[in-house]
Amino acid sequence: MDIAVIGSNMVDLISYINRMPKEGETVEAPDFRMGCGGKGANQAVAAARLGSRVLMLTRVGNDMFAENTIRNFAANSISTKYVLRTEATSGVAPIFVDPDSHNSIIIVKGANAMLSPADIDEAAEDIKQCGLIVLQLEVPPETVYAAIRFGNKHGIPVLLNPAPAQPDLILDEVCGCEYFVPNESELSLLTGMPVDSLDDIRNAASALLKSGMKNVIVTLGARGVLWVNRNRDLFVPGMEVDAQDTTGAGDAFIGCFSHYLCKTGDVEYALRMANMYAADSVTKRGTQTSYATAAQFTEKLKEADGPEK
Ligand code: ADP
Repeated sequence: MDIAVIGSNMVDLISYINRMPKEGETVEAPDFRMGCGGKGANQAVAAARLGSRVLMLTRVGNDMFAENTIRNFAANSISTKYVLRTEATSGVAPIFVDPDSHNSIIIVKGANAMLSPADIDEAAEDIKQCGLIVLQLEVPPETVYAAIRFGNKHGIPVLLNPAPAQPDLILDEVCGCEYFVPNESELSLLTGMPVDSLDDIRNAASALLKSGMKNVIVTLGARGVLWVNRNRDLFVPGMEVDAQDTTGAGDAFIGCFSHYLCKTGDVEYALRMANMYAADSVTKRGTQTSYATAAQFTEKLKEADGPEK
């Protein structure tokens, strides 16, 4: 296996509404869709679609959503050996989208809240074979901390995407990761510093380097991405695209970055590819449905004259 994603899966339950019901009221909505999501699963799917062999350590419930999630992993050639069953509900996200595309989202973590450090031990032999461990914050923090310690102990680099924003994250516990990949608002929350201008963002990212982080990669939405470490400071501007739906752009970025990082070991190249892959994903609706396969991405790169390797 190339990449171990240790994290969440969710089932998105998306109701397209004319308006939110008031308390005690029932309203009819014109449409509904069910989709596979969760930050861990999204990142795993993006990396696997590009051709990485991905192991997913995650927990699903004992309900019909679990079958759907397992089927989706398998359909994307992700190893389901460590998709563990739990006496709980699966993680679900009821989402309400109004006619102006404004979202209201409820997250029920369900089985994701039970992913434990002991689960890492159970999958240890297979995780040890991977070239990268990828983490987010939709599972308990002690599991994230344990995964970082596991990576450090066995010499496996760890990428942490500190999302969703988590004010209680203990920075001392996570500075053992090789790649720390927040978006602007997560960076601001974690440092308490402004992130308005590129210089602000550089300063905030540098503050994280001072607290022991090795590589800080800040995704900046349409503006692109900034990478800083002790020796480098690289800003890659965003691609100009016709954005339709930016949900899941961060996950597309991380899945793609992980894929190319594992394949080439070249951080700058992986960043540039991820910047293009995530930009392509925002031109299409949905989350996982907007992630290109290797063949589709190659076509895009030919059109855009991207950096082949
Ligand atoms: P998140 O989804 O976590 O908030 P961002 O919004 O920072 O993450 O987006 C992640 C990456 O996706 C960006 O660094 C950029 O490469 C790409 N991206 C996001 N929005 C756009 C956009 N409107 N145009 C071009 N690229 C985009």
